[in-house]
Amino acid sequence: MFFIGIFGIQNKNEQIGTESAVICPVCERYGRFEIVKSYYYFHIFFIPVWRWNKRYYIQTHCCKRICELDQETGSKIEAGHSIVIEKEHIHRSEQPTISVCPSCSTQVDPSFHYCPYCGSQINS
Ligand SMILES: [Zn+2]
Ligand SMILES: [Zn+2]
Repeated sequence: MFFIGIFGIQNKNEQIGTESAVICPVCERYGRFEIVKSYYYFHIFFIPVWRWNKRYYIQTHCCKRICELDQETGSKIEAGHSIVIEKEHIHRSEQPTISVCPSCSTQVDPSFHYCPYCGSQINS
C-alpha cells in the first residue's frame, strides 16, 4: 500500500514567547511563563495542508500550570505586540484544558474521545 504514511494528523505545539520576571497571572507570585500555540494539522507528504483548533496556552514555571489564553491576546502576542498578560486574559478552570493520551502521551483536545495520533480511547 503506497498511501500509508503520506498523510496524517499531527499536533504541534509552538513556543511563541517567554515572559520572565513578571507577576504570574495564575498564582500571583513573581515568576516566569511561556506562551505556547497549539494546533492540529493535516499533512500530505509532510506538508501541512489544513490547520484547525488553534489555541494559545501559557505554561507557568512557578506554579506548573497550563492555562488557556484568550485567542485574541494570543494572536496579538504571536504578531509581535507586547502585551502584559493579566488574569482576565487567561481561563482558569479546574477542568484540564489538555488531555494526555494514555497510550502515546500526545497532548490532545479533551473534546476528543479518540487520540488522533494513535487511535486509542481517551478517558477524560
Ligand atoms: Zn504561578
Ligand atoms: Zn495516542
